[in-house]
Amino acid sequence: METLSVRCNHCGAPLQVSDAARFVTCQFCQSSLEVKRTESSIFTEEVAKIAENTGKMAESLEVIALQNEIEKLDREWGIEQMNSMVPSRRGPRPPGNPWFGLVFTIFFAAGCFSMASLASSERVPDVPGIFIFVPVGMGLFALFAGISGVFKGETRKAAQASYQQRRTELEHQLSTLRSK
Ligand SMILES: [Zn+2]
Repeated sequence: METLSVRCNHCGAPLQVSDAARFVTCQFCQSSLEVKRTESSIFTEEVAKIAENTGKMAESLEVIALQNEIEKLDREWGIEQMNSMVPSRRGPRPPGNPWFGLVFTIFFAAGCFSMASLASSERVPDVPGIFIFVPVGMGLFALFAGISGVFKGETRKAAQASYQQRRTELEHQLSTLRSK
């Protein structure tokens, strides 16, 4: 079996290792060494250092994974924002305050209901039912739309809060990793 001369990467002592050996322990400083071969040279590297490098690599992979997750989160949130835009003459815009919408629909519905009650209280015996049922229907529809708008608004708010919370968490993990 051929032996090769290498130097300990830790203390510099000359070592003889067998041709096939992948690992060797330095007799002088007891370092665990990995024997590395390139086409033109042969050298040793401390195993502890390799582990350290591997740890660093794992950390940087974790950083990349976190960054990807943040990017994905932002992208998904962006799509959600776009989907919740409402069309307007000046192009899509974010939805307005649904509580204002609700107040408006309440006034509108009140108008409809008073129209209907006016029509039904008329002493004229043959007021067609359409003058009663249509405004009642419109009022109910408006109320329903206003209330569901408020629910949607609350859902959006909750989604935004959870998005921001998740993002803060990820940012925090990232900065903890980076400060190591
Ligand atoms: Zn050594």
